[in-house]
Amino acid sequence: MPELLLLTNCKQLVTMAGRAPKRGRALAEIGAIRDAAVLIAGGRIVAAGPRARVERHRAARRARKMDLGGRVVTPGLVDAHTHLVFAVSRAAEYEQRIAGATYEQIAKAGGGILSSVRALRGATDAALLSSARARLARMAAHGTTTVEAKSGYGLDFDNELRTLKLMKRLGREQAVEIVPTLLAAHVVPPEYRVPGGADEYVDRIVRLILPAAALEGLAEYCDVFVERGAFTVAQARRILAAARALGLKPRLHAEQLSRMGGARLAVEVEAASVDHLDHANDADMRALARSEVACVMLPGCSFHLGLAHYAPARKFIEAGAIVALATDCNPGTSPTLSLPMAMSLACTQMRMTPGEALAACTINAAYSLGRQGRIGSIEAGRDADLAVWDVEDYREIPYYFGVNHCAMTIKRGKVIHKTAA
Ligand SMILES: [Zn+2]
Repeated sequence: MPELLLLTNCKQLVTMAGRAPKRGRALAEIGAIRDAAVLIAGGRIVAAGPRARVERHRAARRARKMDLGGRVVTPGLVDAHTHLVFAVSRAAEYEQRIAGATYEQIAKAGGGILSSVRALRGATDAALLSSARARLARMAAHGTTTVEAKSGYGLDFDNELRTLKLMKRLGREQAVEIVPTLLAAHVVPPEYRVPGGADEYVDRIVRLILPAAALEGLAEYCDVFVERGAFTVAQARRILAAARALGLKPRLHAEQLSRMGGARLAVEVEAASVDHLDHANDADMRALARSEVACVMLPGCSFHLGLAHYAPARKFIEAGAIVALATDCNPGTSPTLSLPMAMSLACTQMRMTPGEALAACTINAAYSLGRQGRIGSIEAGRDADLAVWDVEDYREIPYYFGVNHCAMTIKRGKVIHKTAA
């Protein structure tokens, strides 16, 4: 007999039901229901909707009842882009940037991603697990129930695979679902920074790292950072073709600091997502809007780097592109664990409405991870992944920026976070 749970006295239930992904005007159609309830059996949603109707359900009488005290319920948040496993913060660089150094200058001086690479290579498994575990718990405390996580601070065979194995272990031992992505092509590792070295490293990824990750079932996706100082479109094309042949679907970091053509490559290789897009132009936007590629916007980067320029989310939505939002949690450019913070930035800096921002980090983020039939919305048959918010109205989630109002997080019917009150 599956465990029955009835969540009731929910002032507002935001379901995100309907066709997924949500494009254009549909992004604002969030399916909000007043005075609602959700009935859960064995970790799945059995019924969700107006309280009177759900409470009349045959199984509702036998269910354990949880009174939500008039709180707001949304789908559990889905963070579609994170660099979850890293060794230490880069708070010193943060201070250098405030003093005037640019991200590229810091990278050239041996800081930036390479400092995270040195730190990860020198860190024990136990240390990496314990910091990642703490991050996952804090993400859950901000309403997140599913997290995409990339390798990319190992940049050699052993450390890339080690990172993926640690993610697999984390996925088994705690409740937040982890979607693993191989990002061996994050930047060129220090030992390959010689003429022709980048192509040699790409060769190593294609011949050794990718096949090993695929053979051991350690990654669902393969990502490449297309940028000056990282990888070219041609190198990315080669890596992603090899990945596809091994059953790993492509993702891309593209057009973040400059326009390199990564957005077009995402369309060409039918990537699951193309992320950043701060410098994508109108032609890129139109090509993406005609495609099935999710456009994952990461406003935490512009905010943390102190840039005035944000990805043109409003235009992308109006063009009909599939817009998603993520934290890009990483120690260099976006050290946040909070999707509500990403939503606040999306609203004020990218002119997304609160409803659009919420859809972008639930159903559309789930779509970008190939999971829209299972998570990202509150509908019968979906996993019971829910976030309960101590607010009167869902719009207050991004409105009260920098303050966490998540009162409870539920993953597959189990409470994984609850505030003391
Ligand atoms: Zn990233």
